[in-house]
Amino acid sequence: MKWTETLIATLREDPQEAEIPSHRLMLRAGLMRKLASGLYTWLPLGLRVLRKVENIVREEMDRAGALEILMPILQPRELWEKSGRWESMDAIMLKARTHGGRELVLGPTHEEVVTGLVAGEISSYRRLPVNLYQINTKFRDEIRPRFGVMRSREFIMKDGYSFDLDEAGADRSYRLMYEAYQRIFRRCGLEAMAVEADTGMMGGRESHEFMVPAETGEDEIAVCPGCGYSANVEQAAVREGQFNGARTGEAVREVPTPGLRTVEELAEFFSASPRRFIKTLIYLAGGKPVAVLVRGDREINESKLAKKLGGAQPVLADGETILRVTGAPLGFSGPVGLEGIGILADYSVAEIADGITGGNREDLHLVNVNIDRDCPGLEFVDLALAAAGDPCPSCGKPIAVRRGIEVGHVFKLGTKYSRALGAVVKDEAGGERPAIMGCYGIGVSRTVAAVIEQHNDDRGIVWPAAVAPYQVLVLALAPDQPGVPEAAEEIISALAPTGRDILYDDRPASAGVKFNDADLIGFPVRITVGKRFLRTGLAEVKHRASEEVHTVPPEEVPALVDRLLA
Ligand SMILES: [Zn+2]
Repeated sequence: MKWTETLIATLREDPQEAEIPSHRLMLRAGLMRKLASGLYTWLPLGLRVLRKVENIVREEMDRAGALEILMPILQPRELWEKSGRWESMDAIMLKARTHGGRELVLGPTHEEVVTGLVAGEISSYRRLPVNLYQINTKFRDEIRPRFGVMRSREFIMKDGYSFDLDEAGADRSYRLMYEAYQRIFRRCGLEAMAVEADTGMMGGRESHEFMVPAETGEDEIAVCPGCGYSANVEQAAVREGQFNGARTGEAVREVPTPGLRTVEELAEFFSASPRRFIKTLIYLAGGKPVAVLVRGDREINESKLAKKLGGAQPVLADGETILRVTGAPLGFSGPVGLEGIGILADYSVAEIADGITGGNREDLHLVNVNIDRDCPGLEFVDLALAAAGDPCPSCGKPIAVRRGIEVGHVFKLGTKYSRALGAVVKDEAGGERPAIMGCYGIGVSRTVAAVIEQHNDDRGIVWPAAVAPYQVLVLALAPDQPGVPEAAEEIISALAPTGRDILYDDRPASAGVKFNDADLIGFPVRITVGKRFLRTGLAEVKHRASEEVHTVPPEEVPALVDRLLA
C-alpha cells in the first residue's frame, strides 16, 4: 500500500482533550477521530489494528471450541423483563421506541439474547456443552466517557457464553476460556494478569479480570508480593481492624466543632490522626437509609456494601435525608445514640480507642468513643476498600496496590439467566435442569488502547509486530530522484514472499516529517532508501523498539526483517 493512496492523517500537536497516552496517540497517529462524546470513527490505520486484535481473539476462541454467532444490537424489552434487568441496569441503557410502539434497548450486553436463543434451540443434555461468542458493538451510556476508546459509550466487545449440564462441565468451560484469554493477551503483546474480581451486576459466583498493569488504569489491583495473591481492590477482603492504642477509660464528651465537617478539618482541629475517627456515612439502598461506619482513613467499598445489603446499589444520602435520620446536617453523623436506622460497621472501627465521631447535632462531635462500650451489639463486617499495606487475605503479608486496565473478564454465572429465560435441558435420567452458564468478555477496542499504554515512548507508539497496522514501512527519501522509487519497489518485491504487511511512504515530504510520522505511528521496522542507497547500494533498516540500525543490501532485507520481527 502506498501512503499517498491511503488516508493517514497525523497531527503535529497533542489534542487538548486527551489525558492519557493511548488517547493522545490514537488521535495524533490518525488511528481514530472523535464523532461526539464517547463515540469514535476508526480510520484505516486504526481499523487495521482493531481487525488484527479481533482475528487473534477469533482464532483463540475457535481453537478453544467456541462457536461464532452474530446477534442484533437492538434487543426487545420483553427479554430484559424476564431477567429483571430492564430496571436494574437502567442507568447505563439507551432505550428506544419504534414507530410501532415496541420498546428496545441498544444492547449493553447479550446474556438475555443468547440465553433466549439456547432456550429455543437446545433441549437435550446431548447437545451440551455449547459455547457461543460474537464480536460486536455494545452501547453503555457512560455518564462520563473519557480516555478515548478506554471508556467510550460505544465499543467493540467479544462476548461469549457457555452452557453446561453440570458444575464440573461449567468449571471446564471456565478454565478453557481462562487459558484462551491468557493466549490472546500474550499474542497481542500485552503483559496481562488474571486477578480475582467482584461479580457485580452480572451476578454469579466466581470471576477473574484480566488486567494490564498501567499507571493510567482506572482499576486498582491488590497484589501480594509474598504469595502471589492478586485481586481487584473491590474484591480483596480486608479482614481485621488494627489495634490503634490503649483506652483512657474516660467517658464520652461533647466538643463543639462549628462548621467542621470533613475528617481532614477535624483531624487538624483535634490534632488527631484520621485513624481515630469513626466516619459515619448515611446511604440509601433501595430507598431505605442505612448508616455505615468506617475508620477515618479508609474508604467504603460500595460493591461490598451492596452485597451486604442484598444487592441493592447504595447511593450516598442527600442532606435532607441525613437531617431527617440523624437530626443533624451532613458532616455531623455518628453512631452513638443513633436510632431507627440500621448500622453497618466495618472491621476497621472495632478497635478504635477513644475515637472521635459526629454527635448527631449541628456543630458537635463526640470524643472518647469506644464502640463496644458506647454502641453495644454492633456486628462488624468487611466493607472497606483494600489499601496498600493491608494484610494479604491469603498469607497475611502486607499487600501492594497497582493500577490496571481491565481488558477481559470471565464469570461463572450459574443458573440465574438460564432459569429466568428457560434454557432448560433434559438430563440423562429424563429430569429437567437449567443449563449452568459462564460468560466471557474482552474489550476489543479497549485492548487496542491498552497495547498502546504498554508500548509507547516520547516519540509515539511502539507496536508489537502482531497488531501493528503495518509491520514494515519502506520509506523513500527524495522519491522524485531517479532510481529511488525503483529501489523501494525492489525491496518491497523482495519482502512480498514473507507475507508481511508493508506500507510504502512515497510522499514528496521532508525527511524530518517522514521520520517523525514513522516513529509516531510506530511501525515495527522502517526501511529507508534515498540518495545514500543510490551511492552505496545499502538500505537502512531500523527496528523501532530496540532502535537497532542495520545497513544491508536489498537481498538481505527479508531475513533481517524476519529476525527483527521475531
Ligand atoms: Zn499473600
